[in-house]
Amino acid sequence: MSDTVNIFIDNVPVAANKGETILSAAIRNGINIPNLCYHKKISHTGSCRLCIVRIEGNPKIVTSCTTPAEEGQKITAFSPELEAARKTVLDLQLSDHNDDCINCYKDGTCELQDMAFQYDLGTDKRKYPRITTKADKCLDTTSQVVDFDSSKCIQCGRCIKACDEIQGKGVLSFMHRGIKSTVKTGTELWVDSTCDGCGECVQICPVGALSLKPVNGKRIRSKDVEKSVNTTCPYCGVGCQLQVGTKKDVVNGVASQDRIIKITGVDTVPNQGSTCVKGRFGTDFVNHPDRLRKPLIRKDGKLVEVEWAEAIEYTAKRFDEIKKKNGAEALAGLSSARVTNENNYLFQKFVRSVMGSPNVDHCARLCHASTVAGLAISFGSGAMTNSIAELEYAKVILVTGSNTTETHPVISTYIKRAVQKHGAKLIVVDPRQIDLTRYATMWLRQRNGTDIAWLNGMVQAIIANGWENKDFIANHTENYEAMKEVMKKYDPKTVEGLTGIPADQLVEAARLFAQAESASIVYSMGITQHAHGTDNVKACGNLAMIAGQIGKPSSGVNPLRGQNNVQGACDMGALPNVFPGYQAVTNPDVIAKFEKAWGKQGLPAKVGLTVTEVMSAVHDGKVKGLYIMGENPMVSDPDLNHVRQSLEHAEFLVVQDIFLTETAQMAHVVLPATSFAETDGTFTNTERRVLPVRRIMANVGQCKEDWQIIQELANAMGEKWNYASPAEIMREINQVTPSYGGITPERIANGELLQWPCPTVQHPGTPYLHKDGNFTRGKGLFAAVDHIGAKEQPDKDFPLVLNTGRLLFHYHTASMTRRTRALPE
Ligand code: SF4
Repeated sequence: MSDTVNIFIDNVPVAANKGETILSAAIRNGINIPNLCYHKKISHTGSCRLCIVRIEGNPKIVTSCTTPAEEGQKITAFSPELEAARKTVLDLQLSDHNDDCINCYKDGTCELQDMAFQYDLGTDKRKYPRITTKADKCLDTTSQVVDFDSSKCIQCGRCIKACDEIQGKGVLSFMHRGIKSTVKTGTELWVDSTCDGCGECVQICPVGALSLKPVNGKRIRSKDVEKSVNTTCPYCGVGCQLQVGTKKDVVNGVASQDRIIKITGVDTVPNQGSTCVKGRFGTDFVNHPDRLRKPLIRKDGKLVEVEWAEAIEYTAKRFDEIKKKNGAEALAGLSSARVTNENNYLFQKFVRSVMGSPNVDHCARLCHASTVAGLAISFGSGAMTNSIAELEYAKVILVTGSNTTETHPVISTYIKRAVQKHGAKLIVVDPRQIDLTRYATMWLRQRNGTDIAWLNGMVQAIIANGWENKDFIANHTENYEAMKEVMKKYDPKTVEGLTGIPADQLVEAARLFAQAESASIVYSMGITQHAHGTDNVKACGNLAMIAGQIGKPSSGVNPLRGQNNVQGACDMGALPNVFPGYQAVTNPDVIAKFEKAWGKQGLPAKVGLTVTEVMSAVHDGKVKGLYIMGENPMVSDPDLNHVRQSLEHAEFLVVQDIFLTETAQMAHVVLPATSFAETDGTFTNTERRVLPVRRIMANVGQCKEDWQIIQELANAMGEKWNYASPAEIMREINQVTPSYGGITPERIANGELLQWPCPTVQHPGTPYLHKDGNFTRGKGLFAAVDHIGAKEQPDKDFPLVLNTGRLLFHYHTASMTRRTRALPE
């Protein structure tokens, strides 16, 4: 049966998709039937009445945005009658609109203004007089990020639907009736509402009713934007695609530094035009006066500005001295989940081949190292198995250890849409009443640290009730019997005693998960940040495999990686046990491969120290020289007293960053790096998608890109590196990293947003892993994991259980987010 229906619009044949409305089919085929309240991302109500059409055989005029296309329809979209009706409707609309266009920021991009021009409805041509502004219509400027001017609102309802249907928040609604109707947040003032400032409403508003907060007292107009560049958000692992608009500051009549003035979500993967408050309003830190502008060297106890040549020469000399005196392993480097793949690649190459040390790691150690290890053991690949967009179509979603609304705001919109739009069942397993519990079919509250017990309990319930996927287990897994034996201990009553989850609820959750057509597990650091985090991850793998909920769309095990490029930093080998592409440092063939590729013999062939071990080794004087790029362990690491004492012990500490962070303040040398806005390269988001990072502006001060600084240091230490650009580094990555083999600079420049593995230039990328149960490691490995409980239990002296978690508004020790205008303190 065909998926299209054939209709005629003003005698033009149009192929409409089944279920599509006439308006949508018309727009897709280049027929622009006038409209104002329509937007392709929201449901349609025909409230503006501009998209009216006649259908042969139907005596009534209908709105084309609400009328489905049906085979053979003969539609009239433009006729003197319809055009006259549109003009009247528009005239009435304008009579209730504050049309002070000259002073409106939307002047030139306003859809109502365009329509008024189209229908020749200038102020002197209108039939209907302006209605006096009603008392309840007002300017609400109380939000920290958006303003609402109801005198310009045309009550199209787009903002209300965007808030509800795209973001899943439902903050906005209409208030009052008829002529008094206006948009409200449910509270008298915007600031008192639950609005978190994502800005979706501003982006979708067709007129100037909703606007971004003025910058320096001036509301930003589209025509103020001098340059627009598409790039990737620098905050979380979603990797939202942003269009960044800049304008040059004018100082004493001379154009100087570029300034970010406007951010819009780009309508592509992974965010489909949406952003959260950080992406839309939190990037002005790049122009903050606190930005480091010149290198610093500690002299007489104080950090003083020096020229680059001195900083590079001094740093290289000190690293060389330490290496000669104490051996290469007295040096260590901490790479960064904030910087690009190219910078991470070069950093680990520097530590391994120039310093000659195996000691390279980064903050993934403290978040998802257990994911990388656990999923690699169970499946062969330590990454999110499926794509973000697939979540919207999952029949069951199990979220645990992830307050997704705060940590990965745009991913939470997919989960909410799955529930609200497509009827998915959401199971939240979390001790806290997180925002997602409002959408949940089931909310199970486990005792902290009992994740293996409830996951095993679900597996046991599936086995006991015969809900397991026998074919999948037989054909695609191994170690099932050993795992099953251990599970016998986890009957629902025993699990209830251990976890506090009522037995009947656990069994029902297991049934929902196992019997669903598709079921996704979504987890984050609530699962991984435990002494037994790797076993927690393996237990998630067991659950997915026993139900056969992996290797197909909208299923799988989906760890949400935290920072913008924590996935990429791992992929690039900024880990002590693997080279780029997770190639083991202990494998002689791998060592030989990298020695050849890098033209360097004697690469360290042993597993180096982890982040936490590095700190202890610095404390104990075993590591004497430490190079930290874009990390702030003085705030982010556990046991800050220990970190401080360690860094005080460091013989030589070099910090490369954009601000003088708490860690940089302790350094002997501080090297000023560029921010995401002054760099080219790529980030890899949580769904393994390699995304472009594009230079938006000239470097602030004398900052240099991380790869340039690393290269200068390498050459000062005797190398002859000659990379001219991040693209050249990516070409080397393509050569030595099989999963990135086909993700070339050319394809990235071409707009291809590919997911690894993508081994060749012909490969289309991999939206979901382990297709049809063909695991990366061959067969999926069931793990016989046992509940062992948290290492530290509350007692009389320490009665509280404290947990880690993120805030929506802040990121990465807040070094950037606390230096923005809009994000609250
Ligand atoms: Fe998107 Fe995350 Fe950036 Fe928010 S912080 S805009 S969710 S990438």
